[in-house]
Amino acid sequence: MSLDKLLATIKSYTEEANIDLVKEAYYLAKESHEGQYRVSGEPFVSHPVQVAQIMAELELDIISISAALLHDVVEDTEVTTEELREKFGPEIELLVNGVTKLSKIDFKSREEHQAESLRKMFLAMAKDIRVILIKLADRLHNMRTLQYLPREKQIRKATETLEIYAPLAHRLGISTLKWELEDLSFRYLEPDRYYEVAKKIAKNRAEREAYIEEAIKRLNTKLTEVDIEADIYGRPKHLYSIYQKMIKGGKEFNEIYDLTALRVIVSSVKECYQVLGIIHELWSPMPGRIKDYVAMPKSNMYQSLHTTVIGSKGEPLEIQIRTWEMHRTAEYGIAAHWRYKEGNRKDEDFERKISWLRQLLEWQKDLSDAKEFMENLKIDLFED
Ligand code: GDP
Repeated sequence: MSLDKLLATIKSYTEEANIDLVKEAYYLAKESHEGQYRVSGEPFVSHPVQVAQIMAELELDIISISAALLHDVVEDTEVTTEELREKFGPEIELLVNGVTKLSKIDFKSREEHQAESLRKMFLAMAKDIRVILIKLADRLHNMRTLQYLPREKQIRKATETLEIYAPLAHRLGISTLKWELEDLSFRYLEPDRYYEVAKKIAKNRAEREAYIEEAIKRLNTKLTEVDIEADIYGRPKHLYSIYQKMIKGGKEFNEIYDLTALRVIVSSVKECYQVLGIIHELWSPMPGRIKDYVAMPKSNMYQSLHTTVIGSKGEPLEIQIRTWEMHRTAEYGIAAHWRYKEGNRKDEDFERKISWLRQLLEWQKDLSDAKEFMENLKIDLFED
């Protein structure tokens, strides 16, 4: 059943893909993991299938998805890398090997552990970024099933996720993975705060939604007048980012107003700026809150115009304006460049966009001391 779902997801974005390869990968995974179980009691193969499902939801290529299905066979079963190469070719062999190597890191102190695993990840990434995408998807599924593990292990995994995997997803611009990894870590690390924030958000939801609906209507009317076609919608903010805002600003929950942000998607850069002007005519902008990440993209390639305005009830309303292309990059980041395409997967654009990664690698190669590396990496990886 889960195989059917996976195949249906793949077919939803590509019709001509080699589905047989995915099926073959699935059957080998199922057969070789036979008799193994997850802590949840499910047959082990459910894990690689779910990891492959996450990859397919990022609309990745067939090779990545097949490798995700096979990502644990070399480590946990009798299947050898030679066998993988023979049956599935060198690309899948390289990806599975990369993931296997990453999971074999022997950690010492926590700091070393962090530095080492990041270093290894960057090295793996230089070979093929898809190794990291599989690793991130693997971690996401493990986080989604964390309830089956003992408390101590939950804390260790959630901490590691918050310190390593979520920042990595952020750096690669894959916000869909980043938000979920953060919220899941938050839930296990600070359950009381997590449920408190979740409950409070639920409380005024209807009222907030009505307020956003009204703003959308007003903006839509204006945009229709000037013939700009736009997709406008309210976007609930993520729990961890709300919590961060509370901590950083030393605020209580009821002091955080912008729990919902408005997003406007248009067809061209020119329209982004036109929409910004129209919004500022409708509502007063808050000083210091206008950010032009269109002209000045973030290092993870994120682009959008940001503004916060004073809405009709005197409450701040956060608005993001972007084109469809920018939206794709904002949601999928680097993964957008590995999406299923016929032929030219390694396009120039992609190479240009990971050049910062290669630079980072070049620079860290000279650093032998893990701690020093960590100190340097912190600057680059954890700060915007
Ligand atoms: P700023 O203060 O306007 O620069 O932006 P913040 O850092 O407060 O982010 C505001 C919102 O913009 C976030 O909640 C995200 O929705 C979005 N955002 C900011 N940076 C990124 C990014 O790198 N990737 C994605 N996908 N969204 C981002």
